[in-house]
Amino acid sequence: MLKADYHMHTSLCDGKNTPEEMAEAAIDLGLKHMGFSGHFDPENGVHMETEEYLKEIKRIKEKYKDRIDILLGGEIDCLYPNPEIEKELEYVIGSTHSIYYKGNVIPVDDTEEKLDNGCNEYFGGDYLRLAKEYYRTEAEIVDKINPDFIGHFDLITRFNDSMHFLDESNPAYINSAFETMEFLVKKDIPFEINCGAYNRSRKKDLYPNKRLLKALFEFGGRIIINSDAHETGKITGGFEKAVENAIACGFKYTGILISNGNSGVEWKELALHEL
Ligand SMILES: [Zn+2]
Ligand SMILES: [Zn+2]
Repeated sequence: MLKADYHMHTSLCDGKNTPEEMAEAAIDLGLKHMGFSGHFDPENGVHMETEEYLKEIKRIKEKYKDRIDILLGGEIDCLYPNPEIEKELEYVIGSTHSIYYKGNVIPVDDTEEKLDNGCNEYFGGDYLRLAKEYYRTEAEIVDKINPDFIGHFDLITRFNDSMHFLDESNPAYINSAFETMEFLVKKDIPFEINCGAYNRSRKKDLYPNKRLLKALFEFGGRIIINSDAHETGKITGGFEKAVENAIACGFKYTGILISNGNSGVEWKELALHEL
């Protein structure tokens, strides 16, 4: 099994367990590499105890250094670039949790109601147009932040298993997603396979879904597998399915990040069939 996980949250933002509890759980699972990816939203978003986070992750990084390589990362939202925080982090996940449209912010993963109201108010109830805007916003990640990889690429489908608002096989939807995907691949940014929603039984498929993952392979993209765990019991959750999907879509390798000893990370690849 893959012994690395780089997308996790703690009680210092919206997770349930402390960083130390997460690190101990990861060690118990036999992980060799882990990364914390706290949210750094403005005050109206998820609250983060920033000073404590930076201090605490550095402390446990040192404390457990002989047992696991702990990385100090962050999940930075495309709408809220934060160069000051980016400087403090060893790696950055670039995620898009909202659509920005004509001065309005529509969250896509908060509640079904907010998504539906936003779609009705600004897109006349046309979810294909809303999805197109989502992917247009996501492409802006490149100019706004400097991500080491893209988080949950098709988070726009967060409520699709329950709301069925998008036909994910509709060519208009696929084209919007492919356009941004190809653009980001050309910028040489890897994509995560995010098990978070699957892990929490919110969705049947992972991010990106299998159709998009296959396209990612065909565009020449790179992958890294993450749980998006918000509690100890979810670390590495869904990894078997992620590996299975990756192999089925043609991938031979998945990435891991390793401290380069200079406040940054190195990208390495592991053969999927050896996991
Ligand atoms: Zn996220
Ligand atoms: Zn997350």
